[in-house]
Formats: sequence, structure tokens, C-alpha cells
Amino acid sequence: MSNVCPVERCDNRKQENQVACAHHWYKLPSELRARIWRLFRNERGSAAHLQAIRESIQLLNLRAKPKGESDVDDHRDA
Ligand SMILES: [Zn+2]
Repeated sequence: MSNVCPVERCDNRKQENQVACAHHWYKLPSELRARIWRLFRNERGSAAHLQAIRESIQLLNLRAKPKGESDVDDHRDA
């Protein structure tokens, strides 16, 4: 259950210890990814770590919101 990407409308699987699926993870700014990695290594599960994860998911969900109905052409680059 927790192994599904937390981004809205994304059904991709993710690893247990990852924030999101690979597709969404690489959409995060590299500085944010670096921060999460550092927190993961140094203080896994800490408030700061969980906060950084929440921040990432929020950011991804903001971006995942469709503009109008233009997300229908999702199959475009398949
Ligand atoms: Zn995803």
C-alpha cells in the first residue's frame, strides 16, 4: 500500500524507502533531492527528514495538477 507513488493520479510503484516513483523523483529540483538524501543518511525518520518528504510530495502534487483538461494527451510521447 505504501509502495505506490504518493503523487496524485500516479499509480507507479516506488521503493519502500523512496519518496516517489523514479519518474516523479527526478522531477524534483536537484537541491531538494540532495537534501533528502543527506537527511535519509544522517537522520532517517527525523522531523526534518519527514518534513522534506512532505515538501517534495506537495511540490509534485502542485505540478501534477492538470491545467484545464490538457492532461488527456498523456499518451503523446508513449
Ligand atoms: Zn509518480
